[in-house]
Amino acid sequence: MRVDHANPLAFVDDLVRDAQTRGVWRWPRLLESPQEPIARYDGREVVNLCSNNYLGLATHPALKAAAIEAIETLGVGSGAVRTIAGNMAIHQELEAELAAFKHTEAALLYQSGFTANAGTVAAILEKGDVVVSDELNHASIIDGCRLSGAEKKIFPHKDVEAARRMLAASRGARRVLLITDGVFSMDGDIAPLPDLVNAAGEYGAIMMVDDAHASGVLGHQGRGTVDHFGLHGRVHIQVGTLSKAFAGLGGYVAGSRTLIEWLMYRARPLLFSTSHPPSVAASALAAVRLVQRQPEVLSRLWESTRFFKEGLKRLGFDVGASETPITPVMIGDETRAMQFSDRLFEEGVFAVGLAFPTVPRGRARVRTIVTAGHMREHLERALGAFERAGRALGVI
Ligand SMILES: *Cc1c(COP(=O)(O)O)cnc(C)c1O
Repeated sequence: MRVDHANPLAFVDDLVRDAQTRGVWRWPRLLESPQEPIARYDGREVVNLCSNNYLGLATHPALKAAAIEAIETLGVGSGAVRTIAGNMAIHQELEAELAAFKHTEAALLYQSGFTANAGTVAAILEKGDVVVSDELNHASIIDGCRLSGAEKKIFPHKDVEAARRMLAASRGARRVLLITDGVFSMDGDIAPLPDLVNAAGEYGAIMMVDDAHASGVLGHQGRGTVDHFGLHGRVHIQVGTLSKAFAGLGGYVAGSRTLIEWLMYRARPLLFSTSHPPSVAASALAAVRLVQRQPEVLSRLWESTRFFKEGLKRLGFDVGASETPITPVMIGDETRAMQFSDRLFEEGVFAVGLAFPTVPRGRARVRTIVTAGHMREHLERALGAFERAGRALGVI
């Protein structure tokens, strides 16, 4: 590494060049259409297997109408952080709907799923406390743990026995938090939540689950993993996002009334970052209501999921441990994963290549996500492209 006194940021040039040389650096592709199953990226119409728009709601007329009406009646911004002057009725209406949806006493909005995780963990733990966390948990959980100052104990992915040993060894700690993603975003597998909840119960730990990829996807009407496993009332803190299946932007915590009261008083993103524009809250509210009224959207999502996953397996791809609409195609080598993704794009399919630091070294992959909006014909076209690109690059 150079040390250059005239340009103290010169090391960044080296770092970027190094990533470019390895073929893993790239500017994100440019989306030039709405976020839809067939979308225009970098000037090309492609089958889009990259979005978290699970239910196809990003362009739904009911959500657009709700956003437009909120702009007309309430304006474009809340003008303040929640805890000073930016607490709007539309925020509280959405929170009441989310609490009812999650079967909890209360819910609290955050600006994103990221700040919901980071802000919540940091507000309930401090130095001297312990957090027991799955090794593949989302970056926002990891950052929350760091911010809290609590001691981190990381258990191997989905290894409940290891988590138990860590809980047992933490008996002396004042507060212990057991935390997991509900659905893991890079692998598409589901957390062993019933066993984790039992372990938390035995050791008196707080149980927290991040259902960013499970809300609107798993459980009755998309209520998430807690509902999927029948664990209502046994998970103390549920995090969700409004940015994926609910197609807008924002995160939330669902739990007890006092938890929400504490977070409103103490969570730093609530205290120091502006609350949602009313239009964003209004379209999210429309989304949460819509999934409860139109269950057929969810059935379509799962039909597409089964069809596409089976298709990939039949072609001989390694789809890892996926159990949800997130289906990775495991490649291993990071340069090769990027080449595979590029080749797919030439074939008219957008499936992103993921390498370190997004996934562990040596576990590079191309990740696919199907949505309720994908037609059989789109998925068949995508499978054809996977077959051609897979053979061309020797993946199958
Ligand atoms: C996407 C994601 C988040 C962050 O949600 P945003 O609303 O996009 O900030 C948190 N946790 C998991 C597991 C995620 O996949």
